[in-house]
Amino acid sequence: MQVAPIPGLDSEINDVRLATANIVTRYVIPNEDRLGDWESPGRPELFRELQENVKKAGLWAPHLPKEYGGMGIGFLKHAYMNEILAWSAYSNPIFGVVAPDSGNQTILIKYGTDEQKKKWLEPLIAGEIRSCFSMTEPDAPGSNPYAIQTRAVRDGDEWVINGRKWFTSGAKGAAFAIVMCRTEEPDGTGGTREKMTQIIVPTDTPGFKIERSIPVWGRDSNHCEITYSNVRVPVTNQLGRTGTGHQAAQDRLGAGRVFHCMNSIGQMWRAFDLMVQRAIAREVHGGKLETKQFIQGFIADSYIDIQAARLMTIHTAQVIDTGGDSRTDISAIKIFVPAAFERVVDRAIQVHGAMGVSGDTPLAGMYQGARTLRIADGPDEVHKILIAKNVLKKYHDGMSWDFGI
Ligand SMILES: Cc1cc2nc3c(=O)[nH]c(=O)nc-3n(C[C@H](O)[C@H](O)[C@H](O)COP(=O)(O)OP(=O)(O)OC[C@H]3O[C@@H](n4cnc5c(N)ncnc54)[C@H](O)[C@@H]3O)c2cc1C
Repeated sequence: MQVAPIPGLDSEINDVRLATANIVTRYVIPNEDRLGDWESPGRPELFRELQENVKKAGLWAPHLPKEYGGMGIGFLKHAYMNEILAWSAYSNPIFGVVAPDSGNQTILIKYGTDEQKKKWLEPLIAGEIRSCFSMTEPDAPGSNPYAIQTRAVRDGDEWVINGRKWFTSGAKGAAFAIVMCRTEEPDGTGGTREKMTQIIVPTDTPGFKIERSIPVWGRDSNHCEITYSNVRVPVTNQLGRTGTGHQAAQDRLGAGRVFHCMNSIGQMWRAFDLMVQRAIAREVHGGKLETKQFIQGFIADSYIDIQAARLMTIHTAQVIDTGGDSRTDISAIKIFVPAAFERVVDRAIQVHGAMGVSGDTPLAGMYQGARTLRIADGPDEVHKILIAKNVLKKYHDGMSWDFGI
């Protein structure tokens, strides 16, 4: 895979794209077998060595502001960089962007007190600790964030938390969880949508218990079910003011959704590249795969899907960077990009035949990731409802949709 400067694009972005491609193609992709094998000797050292290369190239933590050791490049530049960075599933940790830590860093920067930043954010950025984000519950619909049942009740200078969460990614090995709670008064009042609050819970607090890691696509990938039984933390562990939990979740998830889409586009390019290479190389009955019109159709449809997905995502990043209302566009890409990703990978798998569903290419893992993304961070249907609501509101307010934004 290769990259050339995009004519007319800011030269700084072109430089970042070329430098990113250099590291991903020369050092990350050739080492994927070692990076993916937990038993591989020297794996942690290899990760550290590659991370050092990234830091030296000035490409570390594109999502973080400069004062926190990141690149401070905003969404648009990050989007252009990420469509190359994500050619490999191993790039993100090597470039210092690891979910859910990256999202938690973002909300700690925005809502954290100086004390919280010192205690939690600094070691998180330094990679000394890991974290998780605990919002979704087995007994409440994750697609309705106001339905959360986990309660935090004030007792003197402490919050006392009781509830059950699941699909808390990365909980095993995390030093703390950011827990979305319904913060109520001791007499049971409150608990309305204004009462959602995020609270930092160290995972060694008595009453925090990981019940199990839920297998996803048949594998243990550290998405955990957790009970919170009379978990007591100081009120100073609260993030932001009481009742800002939902807004903080939106800040976190909105950015996270754009990052997921940027990542998907890089992976789509990789799947596309594998598909075309295979079509050129593979001889089937009566000639090369590339000469068959079915396969040419796969190539053309995939090219269209990728270009549409990347231009929508770049547009959304631009709206965010220029301070516009990006909610409708974020929902639009959150629906379109994972679905386009799924279609592209599906075609690439088909072209590879049995090899496509094997572990010999990254395609099978990409397919599972694409399908999962149509649910995680808000299912398609919920985002469609939001888009329609925003559009209809404009018309009811006597306006039409302004396609200029
Ligand atoms: C791999 C993975 C990792 C995750 N990581 C995290 C994490 O780290 N932290 C965390 O808190 N959560 C996490 N989640 C949870 C994720 O955010 C939720 O699964 C998601 O928000 C949907 O909630 P739900 O599963 O409860 O589905 P439900 O709310 O029960 O919805 C089920 C289905 O109903 C349909 N639906 C919902 N509402 C409507 C409607 N109004 N109209 C029509 N149809 C509707 C949709 O098709 C939806 O898929 C993760 C999920 C996965 C799969």
